[in-house]
Amino acid sequence: MNDSAKLPSPPVEPGTLGFERDSLQPAEPVSSLGASEEDRELIAAEPAGAGRRIVATSCLLLLCFAAISGAATATPPAIRSKPYRVLLVVEHWSDPYGLVVNSETDKFQPVAALLKAWSVPFDILRLDQQHLDASYLFRRSGGIRYGAVIWLADPPSYGEQDLISLEAATRAGTSLIIVDSRFLDPTLDKLLGLKFKDFYTSTDTFRVTREHYITHDIAAGKNAPSAQSHDYSDRLWVQPTIAEVLIAQGQHPALTLNQLGLGISALWLGSPNLSVLCESSFWRNLFFRSLVWSLGYVVVPNVDYAHRIIFELDDWGTADKGFLSYWRYLEPSEETIRQNLIVPLQQHHGIASAEVNTGYVDRQSKRVVSPWIQRFTDLYGLHQDYASTRKGLKDAADAGVLDIESHGWTHMEPNLESPPGPWWTADLAGEGSMVGWYAEFEDQRRGEEVPAVTQIYHMKRSLEELQEDFGQQALELKPGNNSWSKSQFNNTAGLAARVGFGLFHGDKATYYLDHELVIDMADVIPDFNSGYDLLGDLNPERWPDHPDGPVILGFHDRDIALDHNFMERLFAVLPTNYETFGTNQYIGIIHTEVKSSADGDGLQLTFTQDSHYCAYFANHSSSWRLWLSDPLREQLAGSHLEVSIDGKPTRIKTADLDHEDLTIDLPPGLGIHAWKVEAARNSKEP
Ligand SMILES: [Zn+2]
Repeated sequence: MNDSAKLPSPPVEPGTLGFERDSLQPAEPVSSLGASEEDRELIAAEPAGAGRRIVATSCLLLLCFAAISGAATATPPAIRSKPYRVLLVVEHWSDPYGLVVNSETDKFQPVAALLKAWSVPFDILRLDQQHLDASYLFRRSGGIRYGAVIWLADPPSYGEQDLISLEAATRAGTSLIIVDSRFLDPTLDKLLGLKFKDFYTSTDTFRVTREHYITHDIAAGKNAPSAQSHDYSDRLWVQPTIAEVLIAQGQHPALTLNQLGLGISALWLGSPNLSVLCESSFWRNLFFRSLVWSLGYVVVPNVDYAHRIIFELDDWGTADKGFLSYWRYLEPSEETIRQNLIVPLQQHHGIASAEVNTGYVDRQSKRVVSPWIQRFTDLYGLHQDYASTRKGLKDAADAGVLDIESHGWTHMEPNLESPPGPWWTADLAGEGSMVGWYAEFEDQRRGEEVPAVTQIYHMKRSLEELQEDFGQQALELKPGNNSWSKSQFNNTAGLAARVGFGLFHGDKATYYLDHELVIDMADVIPDFNSGYDLLGDLNPERWPDHPDGPVILGFHDRDIALDHNFMERLFAVLPTNYETFGTNQYIGIIHTEVKSSADGDGLQLTFTQDSHYCAYFANHSSSWRLWLSDPLREQLAGSHLEVSIDGKPTRIKTADLDHEDLTIDLPPGLGIHAWKVEAARNSKEP
């Protein structure tokens, strides 16, 4: 079902907000009321003069909170909107093509992964290729393009970069968050109200030096900093000129705030590195709340990821189980799948993903054929019946407990002919058994990568045939043998993005994929492997915290083949508060585009769920959490509110505003969903 035609379209261009109409002061000249949005933004963007004036608005939508007017003299106060989009400024990006963000080579990866996990829209500006200037920071109309800039760069000099344009953007409403940087530039010093002094090492505990929205949880005893007693890392010693210190480590500031105006701030976080933003709940929480403070609000998926797990069962349809001495078993039949997969999943209200291969390497005909017609007694005397397997997988998918995903096409080297092959006729006790032959996206046997064009061909065959055999659009690629190519042009994750996959999971790496960005989710999504004879090593109590993404647990069709109680045993080992999570649901969530836009006199959020990546939501609802900074929340709590979803009125309890976040539940249906809050007309402020 596609509801997009029935739902309101965003009334302004993507990435823009325009609350100006309602934010106008009573004193606003009539002429500007009649001006077009672009004109008003032009007014808003006039450069500041000698003085700055902060004008608070009185209406509901104090999202942008304020305007700092132009010159202190004649220019009338103009109210600025705050776009729900972040600019991530990075010093260096290892991919010259600007596609793949890699945890091993890109220092900024943890922040990119977190923003993606939180569904916060962002652009990346790389100082190694791009020149920062007003063309990035301002829209054509003159309004700001970004609600916040997250600054992760830390070069000894910024050379020709135009940091004055950044100062202009902050005057126009863009907030600034600088993390793990010495900010060696006078303009950055001035914005932060801070000077870099020296490096230092200290094992002192962090303490809250000022009550603030950002430090609220820590002051309340939640997310307390872990002991620093064995952390001798280099830290940055900064000295405030006008900034307030919110968190300190002994005499050293660790988090500072320079409030440039209502709703406009410049924050500095002295985290020892960027990985801790994912790994430490203390730093993660400070970073998240800094973001809410800077943007005014943040909308995140309403999923308790800390207790979610994705099950992946690999190897459905592969040929090797019928002839490899070290990997032999009966491909599970329809009955085995029903009793030992579907039933236990249903009993636990669970879901799993089958990583399927549709290209069966047939050693007799020396061709790739369909697995689902294979019916034979194998080398070890087992009666294999793959038609039954396919039926079982279809039943599980129809029962809603199984997503069908791609494990590649054949699970095998694309070139089975050349030396040291041909593999087709190689002795299965010798060359034919070599594990390198059983990897599809990296030529392990010959120590080479697989060329991009060959990988793409295999991915496309897989997608086509999964559609043909199961009527399903696979959205995840999981390469076999944890083998994949990593160089720029052959990067398997990048190629998977190109053919339309939304998630890539090697055994030890998970990437978010779309056509423009491929992000390593290291430190956000932990992954583990298990098996019927390995469950004792699972040790969930030792898993790292994962508040922003599910755990992915890999095992095989083999485990239910060799141990019919495997699924029950697996559920028994998992902590009782864990629930399974579907791959396609996860992909749908991380591909939902959240935007905010103005429509009349309210805050409107739009959630775009397309028919490809977000197909799951055609028949399922989704839930989101709107985090509000204190000033906005207090403003909302003081108003009589009308809330609507897709144009239909819904309720918001006053008590909801006692908490820091609101839940937004969206109905099933693809296209654009709109959530809107506005002040009731009869109680509106003049
Ligand atoms: Zn496999």
